Amino acid sequence: MTTPSKEALAKIAPVLTKRWLSPDAWKLSVYERLDGYTGLKKALKAHPDDLIQLIKDSGLRGRGGAGFPTGMKWGFIPQNDGKPHYLVVNADEGEPGTCQDLPLMMADPHSLIEGVIIASYAIRANFAAIYIRGEAIHAARRLRQAVDDARARGYLGRNILGSGFDLDVVVHSGAGAYICGEETALLDSLEGYRGQPRLRPPFPATHGLYNSPTVVNNVETIATVPYIVLGGSAWFRTMGTEKSPGTKIFSVSGRVVQPGQYECGLGVTLRQLIELCGGMKPGHNLRFWTPGGSSTPLLTDEHLDAPLDFEGMMGVGTMLGTAAVQIFSDQDCPVYATYRWIEFYHHESCGKCTPCREGNYWMKGILRRILSGQGTHADLDTLLDACDNLLGRSFCALGDGATSPVTSSIKYFKQDYLDYIEGRKAPMFSPGELVGA
Ligand code: NAD
Ligand code: SF4
Repeated sequence: MTTPSKEALAKIAPVLTKRWLSPDAWKLSVYERLDGYTGLKKALKAHPDDLIQLIKDSGLRGRGGAGFPTGMKWGFIPQNDGKPHYLVVNADEGEPGTCQDLPLMMADPHSLIEGVIIASYAIRANFAAIYIRGEAIHAARRLRQAVDDARARGYLGRNILGSGFDLDVVVHSGAGAYICGEETALLDSLEGYRGQPRLRPPFPATHGLYNSPTVVNNVETIATVPYIVLGGSAWFRTMGTEKSPGTKIFSVSGRVVQPGQYECGLGVTLRQLIELCGGMKPGHNLRFWTPGGSSTPLLTDEHLDAPLDFEGMMGVGTMLGTAAVQIFSDQDCPVYATYRWIEFYHHESCGKCTPCREGNYWMKGILRRILSGQGTHADLDTLLDACDNLLGRSFCALGDGATSPVTSSIKYFKQDYLDYIEGRKAPMFSPGELVGA
């Protein structure tokens, strides 16, 4: 295990994770002892518009992957429109390798609920839903307990803390479909329909849950809000970078000594994150990695010093995405990893549009053929052609995301593909079922 450098250690900034190691921090009494719900008390004394302005000034950007400015999204909610407004928290964390929301909801569920109340007050919503993925049974139980405890203490329900503001929160479990993390599929699922994406625009900000103005924000985004209310926008901007302020929980997995969640200022580099993880596992050298799960193009050891923030990742041809940093070594095969990811996209494609439904089916079959030692040089062109027909032609981001591992692995690791095709690498599969599920 290597000792992190001073530069790497300086990037650690526990804000959202600061209570995670306190025993029983998930209990309301402990949360309150650790300053919990003080942000709410302060927020309820402010005008809702001032809270929206505060979040705009802080520069907080959505932590679910896209990095959309949170204050701007809240500001899109029409006022005095006579319609109900809703807040929906996207807790359907499903991007491969992503693991920030689940530990946050397990360790510190009240920070999310406190953020939900403040955000709902700011956008004038009296009903909020937390949509959590179906497999997260323990986290859903913990959240429901936390909601009940908050209600019993007067933080939820009618006339919250004497402010005149009413809010109820429901924790809704999905059924384990990755597509329900796409915000409009999530809304359909919440309304009781089959979870499939809706056409955007109109965006949920004007036509969301039950066709009413709705803010959909990720767990980490909403859990950050109480800290900004307490610390102020200037404090928040002391962390991270100018255009990507604040901290981010990076979930690091793969070939490092100590994988896990590391909360750092945005702009930390992969080199620093690996140092914080105690270095690469003995006997492993970095070969490729994902900055934000499989929907972001792969990077290599050339990109060790690129800043992990929204702009820094664009600068090297990828995206920060969910900050799910998956680390692969010289003992891992990029073609096989790509195959496994495409297997995932094929399984999770909702089937609504042809490019994604058919494209992933064929890409999976071709990748399997290559890994079975039966591939041809033309297969590489067909894979790239399939990506061309998916990217920008799919109905939602799932189809676009599926092209990322394919195009980037061919860009950086074409030789690995050729080694299978030209027989220098032993096949991974016997040539049995070549195409299909
Ligand atoms: P997007 O950029 O289309 O939208 C981001 C957000 O901004 C949405 O809430 C959208 O409603 C809002 N928005 C954008 N333009 C708007 C406008 N003109 N008016 C009003 N609102 C507007 O991104 P997306 O398709 O929602 O999400 C894609 C991201 O999801 C990817 O970056 C990926 O990393 C991430 N993702 C995350 C997970 C996870 O588990 N957390 C899983 C899959 C994908
Ligand atoms: Fe469904 Fe895939 Fe089309 Fe999205 S891109 S609507 S997941 S078929």
